[in-house]
Amino acid sequence: MMRLSLFLLLFSLSLFALPVHKPVPGGIVVLPVPSVSLNDEVRFVNRRGVVFKQKGQLYALAPVPLSVKPGIYIFKVLRDGKPLYKKLVKIGPAHYAEQHLTVKNRRKVNPNPADLRRIRAEAPRKKKAKIFRSEQIPDLAMVWPAKGPVSSAFGLRRFFNGQPRSPHKGLDIAAPEGAPVRAATDGVVVDAGNFFFSGNLVFLEHGEGVMTLYAHLSKMAVKPGERVKKGQVIGFVGHTGRVTGPHLHFSVLVGGVYVDPALFLPPTGVP
Ligand code: ZN
Repeated sequence: MMRLSLFLLLFSLSLFALPVHKPVPGGIVVLPVPSVSLNDEVRFVNRRGVVFKQKGQLYALAPVPLSVKPGIYIFKVLRDGKPLYKKLVKIGPAHYAEQHLTVKNRRKVNPNPADLRRIRAEAPRKKKAKIFRSEQIPDLAMVWPAKGPVSSAFGLRRFFNGQPRSPHKGLDIAAPEGAPVRAATDGVVVDAGNFFFSGNLVFLEHGEGVMTLYAHLSKMAVKPGERVKKGQVIGFVGHTGRVTGPHLHFSVLVGGVYVDPALFLPPTGVP
């Protein structure tokens, strides 16, 4: 029985190639590029992408910012600044729903002057962590960072206590307070600290500027500079920051651009 379920698990995993090509705002463009090398530069809509390897094949991946309008754009790979590969890619429309949330702590929706000073002071630290880039080759077949159903998908157009706020730039996993939070893939801890909206927040970098963020943690189990392995416990689910209850907020950034984390994860139900 054990053997059969292991076989079925490996079989089902092999059916899903990750990450998933989804050319819409908030999505990613993934193209197999012949003769691309890990030192080449991927460019799309003025953003930098990455080169990654999967089953011996090299791919180029670029983020599509939520702010990009549907249309046709040039996907480029440059070698020493010269074009090596070019392809026209059509960005289609995305359909993100509205979400209305009630937050009891009103200061998390309408911060007071002291809160605003804190938010402004935290901004450069967050910005610096988000654009960190190492020259490692990232392993982009991620694992779920927590066990539980998705309670809020990426891209939802949000309203807190009736007021419009920026769209949801991550994926929420409903899990109980204290449940383990795991590194989605191999990486290094770029920053870990307490922030006004995100609460206890861990930033991991996985290579070529691919980052994952883990927010609202009750406790962090790693320190900046530490190397982590895929599946390693890096903290615990909590309800710190702007939340309606305990959950894990998980974000993926490529070249400083927030993209849909679901495109990097096996379908729900596969551990
Ligand atoms: Zn969230």
